[in-house]
Amino acid sequence: MTYTSTPEVQEMKARVCALHAELLRWGLVTWTSGNVSGRVPGTDLIVIKPSGVSYDDLAPELMVVTDLDGKILEGDLAPSSDAESHNEVYRRMPETGGVVHTHSPYATAWAARAEPIPCVLTAMADEFGGEIPLGPFALIGSDAIGKGIVETLRGHRSPAVIMQNHGVFTIGKDPKSAVKAAVMTEDVARTVHISRQLGEPVPIPQADVDRLYDRYQNVYGQQPAPKEQ
Ligand SMILES: [Zn+2]
Repeated sequence: MTYTSTPEVQEMKARVCALHAELLRWGLVTWTSGNVSGRVPGTDLIVIKPSGVSYDDLAPELMVVTDLDGKILEGDLAPSSDAESHNEVYRRMPETGGVVHTHSPYATAWAARAEPIPCVLTAMADEFGGEIPLGPFALIGSDAIGKGIVETLRGHRSPAVIMQNHGVFTIGKDPKSAVKAAVMTEDVARTVHISRQLGEPVPIPQADVDRLYDRYQNVYGQQPAPKEQ
């Protein structure tokens, strides 16, 4: 089948490109160590950062478009070396519309200790519905990273996983949601880390975690405005 680009693909290239600035703004990345991807809605087309291009030099036209098997359909540069891990998530979690990977420092410090981040903040119950789980150790370049992400996040409320000795992967309904999850992961990783310096953080009872999560996911925020007649 021949590939033809669409305005939706071009729009996703612009969105994914722009979201990399958020990784910098929130202090989640160093040099070229993080990446964002997005699925063009209703398709199996993935837009991802090119490998090794610094964030200042990114431009929409440099974004790489691939199919779910990683075949390049648009772009002159190689995709991020993490593309196969992103694609494994898109293949096996079809509801996913965005994936983010970072080595953000506080969350990655938890990963270095192979420790999930316990749910000790109401903001964690809201966003993650519990702890931020730990995924397995996996060598870079193998398909084990993608499999480890999927096996950890499937059936889990959390949109974030910290992969042992490595860093953070987050998912979302679109790339912006996945970036938000990456920002929130680093924020709570830092707070819980600081809390642990002077004692043992107090867990939130599961029933309260469930209530907070339900309220935040279903009630909190702007409700859709009633339709005008
Ligand atoms: Zn990495």
